[in-house]
Amino acid sequence: MKVTQRISGDRPVFSVEFFPPKDEAGEADLWRAVRRLEPLDPAFVSVTYGAGGSSRDRTIRTTARIATDTTLVPMAHLTAVSHSVSELRQVIGAYAAAGISNILAVRGDPPGDPLGEWVAHPEGLTYADELVTLVRRLGDFCVGVAAFPYGHPRSPDLESDLTRLLAKIRAGADFAISQLFLEPEGFLRLRDRLAGAGCDAPLLPGIMPLTTVRTLRRGPELSGAPVPPALTKRLERYSDDPAAFRAAGMDVTSEMCARLLDEGVRGLHFYTLNRSTATVELVRRLGLAAQRPAVTAPG
Ligand SMILES: Cc1cc2nc3c(=O)[nH]c(=O)nc-3n(C[C@H](O)[C@H](O)[C@H](O)COP(=O)(O)OP(=O)(O)OC[C@H]3O[C@@H](n4cnc5c(N)ncnc54)[C@H](O)[C@@H]3O)c2cc1C
Repeated sequence: MKVTQRISGDRPVFSVEFFPPKDEAGEADLWRAVRRLEPLDPAFVSVTYGAGGSSRDRTIRTTARIATDTTLVPMAHLTAVSHSVSELRQVIGAYAAAGISNILAVRGDPPGDPLGEWVAHPEGLTYADELVTLVRRLGDFCVGVAAFPYGHPRSPDLESDLTRLLAKIRAGADFAISQLFLEPEGFLRLRDRLAGAGCDAPLLPGIMPLTTVRTLRRGPELSGAPVPPALTKRLERYSDDPAAFRAAGMDVTSEMCARLLDEGVRGLHFYTLNRSTATVELVRRLGLAAQRPAVTAPG
């Protein structure tokens, strides 16, 4: 099943993003989250692609296991970091062999310093549009790409950032998922700019539930998304009270999601950090959870 099919129904949907677990405890957390989310019928479940060899193997294994052991539609991320084209071909082949037909093709960041100078592998690729082309050439994949409501940190301006996003879609991407953001306007403006350029590829908002002071500080730091002063004012009074902060942060996130749904987004993509509680709470509040019987975890 392709992501584009899953997000093209009459009702808005939700999807979730995981990262490959580092150890057994992390693996247990991840699978608990998967099993709690499964009955709510997320449109798809994505697994990020790390910087090093072992984490990359874990992405392939985790995504493959989602394909075989659950009823969920998996999407594997792939980056061009430190890979020759021939290695990229092998990973794409491994995804296909595992029955994965959705790939999020992102360039990746320079290892060690996400904001550092990008240096391509000597036999590799330089930008994500080339990765989209490669994935498309190698199989019948549904391909997603990254989008940045406030521009990629290294883009000189929003105009050129839009040009790069359009290039990825022209290269064959079927949809885009946005970097996290803390107020809906930036995302909606990007959607308008895409539509204004004649592009009708779906753009899904990436949502980070504001459950802790850390999510409020680290999210914008990593993404470059501005923190609206009204949001700071609303939440900072709870910075010494984790339970009150979580309650207020979940209200803020839920209000933003409701606004995006009112504006007609086809789905909300949740950055789960391999936990399910906040996502489950939000999709229930927003009426996005399907009622399906729980699936028993394999032994
Ligand atoms: C939804 C989402 C999921 C992600 N998943 C992962 C993941 O799993 N693993 C991971 O490591 N990272 C992930 N990232 C982070 C991503 O890899 C970084 O943000 C990366 O810096 C940019 O990736 P991109 O695909 O947008 O790159 P690109 O589209 O290649 O853009 C990178 C920069 O190059 C510029 N550019 C593009 N094409 C050209 C050109 N032809 N000439 C000049 N400049 C150009 C762009 O404007 C931009 O500044 C994800 C990001 C998002 C939003």
